[in-house]
Amino acid sequence: MPPAFAIGDCNNFYVSCERVFNPKLAQKPVVVLSNNDGCVVARSNEAKALGIKMGVPAFKISNLIKTHKIQTFSSNYALYGDMSQRIMNTLAGFTPDIEIYSIDEAFLDLSQCKRYNLTDYGHKIRSTIKQWTGIPVSIGIAETKTLAKIANKIAKKSVKAEGVLNLTASHYQNRALEITDVEDVWGIGRSYSRFLKKYGIHNALQLRDADDNFIKKKMGITGVRLLQELRGVSCYALEHSPSPKKGITVPRTFKNSIESLDDLKEAVATYVSIGAEKLRKERSVAGVLMVFLKASCCNQRHFTAYSLCTGRS
Ligand SMILES: [Mg+2]
Repeated sequence: MPPAFAIGDCNNFYVSCERVFNPKLAQKPVVVLSNNDGCVVARSNEAKALGIKMGVPAFKISNLIKTHKIQTFSSNYALYGDMSQRIMNTLAGFTPDIEIYSIDEAFLDLSQCKRYNLTDYGHKIRSTIKQWTGIPVSIGIAETKTLAKIANKIAKKSVKAEGVLNLTASHYQNRALEITDVEDVWGIGRSYSRFLKKYGIHNALQLRDADDNFIKKKMGITGVRLLQELRGVSCYALEHSPSPKKGITVPRTFKNSIESLDDLKEAVATYVSIGAEKLRKERSVAGVLMVFLKASCCNQRHFTAYSLCTGRS
């Protein structure tokens, strides 16, 4: 029996968390800003519709914020982490086979749940999470993790899907691949997609039907696995225990300019200690410590960003 994977991905997660505790934000344009209110890290659908791009520096959209009364929030990672935990616990109630993929995404192995109609099961998961946590989540279901990711992306956008798309044994599968830009296929980055498009491979369907030898030569074994996954042959099982981190980074962008050496020292010391705390939680050790400083002078605003890396020895 072929396996069945699902991926649950929360919609506009940070914004949705803020809305749970402030229902007045419903239907309004809302953005969440990164540490020190530097850049946009989450957008409600209404904010997306206003053309606000992910990662844009907040000062660049200050006019838009005023004109459209966009509600802005500083990120509250303690809250998002707590909400994430609740969502993952709820998901784990539907199957013990779960891989927490990021703060707002998890893969589920539903192979043992095939006695249920998987589409109905997906809707049940979705409505339970909404009811228990208040967070809207989209669910994609398919024979492989890569196809489930594609299903999820469509489930998020399609009104008809109502948040759940099941591509297992579906006539819709070819169409779903056809409307998926090759850049949006899991594991295809910008540079691979640019390269593939040069060879006439623009969507996931064209990639699935590409010549194996050509892909193997250009993308190696990862590319071959990707083709298999798109063809419904599962190459990636769930990863239950995350592999230990090879590096820890603490990047920050400042809201205001930092001009004195003492302020700089203090900031670096703070970020190093945050990194060290993460390192201890992982029960790991560092072989290398790197500090990066970058000055930027766009729009006369003086941004300085730091980054701390700790490599495992
Ligand atoms: Mg998400």
